[in-house]
Amino acid sequence: MALGKWVVTSKLCLVLFSGQGFFYAVSWRIKNYIRQRRERMIDDMKEQLEAIRAEADAELSAVKDAKALDALRVKFLGKKGALTAILKQMGKLTAEERPVMGQLANEVRTFIEEAIAAKQTEITRLEMQARLASETIDVTLPGQKQSLGSLHPLAIVENEIKEIFLGMGFEIADGPEVEYDYYNFEALNLPPDHPARDTQDTFYITDNILLRTQTSSVQVHVMENQKPPIRVISPGRVFRSDAVDATHSPLFHQIEGLVVDKGITMADLKGTLEMLMKRLYGPDCKIRLRPHHFPFTEPSAEVDVMCFGCMGKGCRICKNEGYIELLGAGMVHPKVLEGCGIDSSVYSGFAFGLGLERVVMRRYNISDMRLLFENDYRFLEQF
Ligand SMILES: [Zn+2]
Repeated sequence: MALGKWVVTSKLCLVLFSGQGFFYAVSWRIKNYIRQRRERMIDDMKEQLEAIRAEADAELSAVKDAKALDALRVKFLGKKGALTAILKQMGKLTAEERPVMGQLANEVRTFIEEAIAAKQTEITRLEMQARLASETIDVTLPGQKQSLGSLHPLAIVENEIKEIFLGMGFEIADGPEVEYDYYNFEALNLPPDHPARDTQDTFYITDNILLRTQTSSVQVHVMENQKPPIRVISPGRVFRSDAVDATHSPLFHQIEGLVVDKGITMADLKGTLEMLMKRLYGPDCKIRLRPHHFPFTEPSAEVDVMCFGCMGKGCRICKNEGYIELLGAGMVHPKVLEGCGIDSSVYSGFAFGLGLERVVMRRYNISDMRLLFENDYRFLEQF
């Protein structure tokens, strides 16, 4: 037995110390070294993955809002994130090692994803709670007063005048504010050289087209298109090249009235205007007609209304006259009727033009016309 053992040992020594044996030994040690390196690398990766899981877990618990959560998602799961960096190293692994590491990496990814989702739900809930708390309505607080708009004094009185005339069987007619010279002047017996044109200087668009200076232009339109009997009023804006002061404005409002029928006289005019003023200023109101001249009426009159301040006795408002000048009126000039194709031997009519601002100023005791156009809230909210 002793001999046999020696033989074996010496053979082994031979093998070991021969060149072939040395090669085997070195090769075995290299393989062993490589195997150990791989094992260390895999252990390293496992450790890194676990470290990522632990770090994500720790950081997540400190996250308080959606922005920080998003930053964390990018840090761990993003394209340049920690987990992706580890997964990029998977290429170095063998076919046997890869599934093991893959599984672990997936576990870590799933863990982080689920933790982020849970945190997201919690943040949403907290944000909702905070919003509900901050948006609580105190129903015991006094409400905020909403101010209601109201009609402009010009509109109030215009509506009132319209109602009065509609009640007397009048219709409401409308006409253009941009007008031909013919309708504004010539057809109203104001030929181009008529001196009365100077008192009604206006804004010209061309030599022939202008901004109307009076609502009387609507009379002509109505008579051209409608046969008598005619009973219309036409409220609207008119324009004159006047400087602004307490009683003048380049834009103001008129209400034109026109009646054409058989047997219309000055008495009808006076009766109609008296009715208007009594409805506007009360049943005791009186009017007075003074002879005047307008090119488009014959005879013509200025109509004064009894002063509401002194009832005709004379005061500061009426400059001791007892009456206040309010409008112009008269019987429609036969030339105007004929110019519109109405036979002046059969028909007659009256017309009047009322300055709306003047009526409003008398009505509310307003001393300056500019107040009506300045749109001062403090002024307007009184109506
Ligand atoms: Zn007076």
